Amino acid sequence: MLGRGDWEAAQSGSELAYCPWEVRNTNSLGVKDVEHENIHSSLSSLIGTTHVQTQHNQLLVYPATEEEISQILRAASAHGYGVVPQGNGSQSQFGKGFIEKKIQLSLKRMTGIVEHSIPDLTAAVLAGTPLQMMQQVLKQSGQWLPIDPMVSAEATIGGIVAANSSGPKRILYGSLRDYVIGMRIVYPDGSVVKSGGKVVKNVAGYDLCKLFIGSRGTLGILTEITFKLRPLPHYQELVLIPLQTLDEAAKLQRIILASEFIPSSLELLTPQFSVELGQRPSYTLLVGCDEGEAACIYHRERLTELAGADFNLKRGEGADQFWQEYRSYFNSSSQDFLLAKVSVLPMQVLPFLQLLRELFDGSSVLMSCSAGLGTGIIRLTIQDGLNQDGVAPKLKIAREWAEKHQGALILEKAPFVIQKQLSIWGSEPSAFPLMKAIKQKIDPDYLLNSGSFIGGL
Ligand SMILES: Cc1cc2nc3c(=O)[nH]c(=O)nc-3n(C[C@H](O)[C@H](O)[C@H](O)COP(=O)(O)OP(=O)(O)OC[C@H]3O[C@@H](n4cnc5c(N)ncnc54)[C@H](O)[C@@H]3O)c2cc1C
Repeated sequence: MLGRGDWEAAQSGSELAYCPWEVRNTNSLGVKDVEHENIHSSLSSLIGTTHVQTQHNQLLVYPATEEEISQILRAASAHGYGVVPQGNGSQSQFGKGFIEKKIQLSLKRMTGIVEHSIPDLTAAVLAGTPLQMMQQVLKQSGQWLPIDPMVSAEATIGGIVAANSSGPKRILYGSLRDYVIGMRIVYPDGSVVKSGGKVVKNVAGYDLCKLFIGSRGTLGILTEITFKLRPLPHYQELVLIPLQTLDEAAKLQRIILASEFIPSSLELLTPQFSVELGQRPSYTLLVGCDEGEAACIYHRERLTELAGADFNLKRGEGADQFWQEYRSYFNSSSQDFLLAKVSVLPMQVLPFLQLLRELFDGSSVLMSCSAGLGTGIIRLTIQDGLNQDGVAPKLKIAREWAEKHQGALILEKAPFVIQKQLSIWGSEPSAFPLMKAIKQKIDPDYLLNSGSFIGGL
């Protein structure tokens, strides 16, 4: 298994392309193939040949049960291979770390709703279940998991929880940490652990679920997740207000956040993004309301008083359609596409947009943002010209500004030319030593997704 020394060496080398054992292996051609054959056949004997594949020299396995996952982890450890859990693999090209000998473990055969208690508004779901499929089933009972991440239709609930993905509606409904009430996890040593339960807050002790949300498959493999659900809103409206300046947006931000409004979204689109979504070439403030028709009418009247009547309105399915187009914008398959997630305090959002404008005005790349004026989460995209000089240094300045304001700028999607100049996660947070201690306690051999997380965890 990958030794502590190798790992430290790889870290200190911090050359994305370079890896100590790679040198070792390339000199002795053939050894790699034998090792590959050995583990391929032992995995096939565990879960069946049809569920073990080799793609681009990488092993890809499809277990169907927790027991099979346990056996795969033990076999991987015995053969000196790392393991990378995978949902739909939207992020599989991302932050690959230094593991060369690794097994991509797909949860795609573990799909379905295990239990749905309609009166209790809870549901237990297998981790390989696509979010869209889950929401469609829950919708039949007028319920949903109130998250709206920017993910493709195939993205799995396990991958979304492992990345703690969220969307604009976080301003009203909160994040996954508010809805996950239980988990089943296979630990790196193959043991199966249950955390939380099927009812809201039933166990004493540390809420381990929260530790695994956002852990990106570096601490354990999620196999089943139990959620608290909400009734689906009967009626929703989305008001799209064109604004000329960031000052206008700042005025509305302060009034709306300090008022009786209960917006289900409060996103500011930069002019470039407004045009992409069929709006005028100006800033566009998206103010959503999920509180039923009467509340939406009151909402709209108040917004008219505050911002005038010159706005676009989308109701019900029209609003759903708009959000669909909005989400698909972030799922570009172009190589020349960068997506960064910036998190700052809400009142720092507009000064950050001002900085971006100063940095990228006059540049030929297309920079656009959707900025959460209530959540402080900004989705920044840059495309068409990422291999130009200057893009990464500008992003570095933007990251330094965010970190100076107790925030962060994380690359969610970026081509190698950028990854080579800018780390995915940015500076290690002050609590990093504790995070490292937790990783070393739970995964002492760095078996799971090692090198892909913050500080090389
Ligand atoms: C740092 C970061 C932050 C992100 N934040 C957001 C966001 O706020 N909103 C948004 O819409 N999208 C966000 N994304 C994108 C989001 O991660 C993916 O779109 C989503 O995870 C895709 O689901 P998937 O099934 O394709 O997962 P994959 O891409 O297959 O996996 C995503 C991550 O989760 C791990 N993983 C997958 N399944 C499991 C499992 N069962 N157990 C343990 N680990 C698992 C993988 O190893 C990988 O690290 C973020 C991505 C990154 C890198």
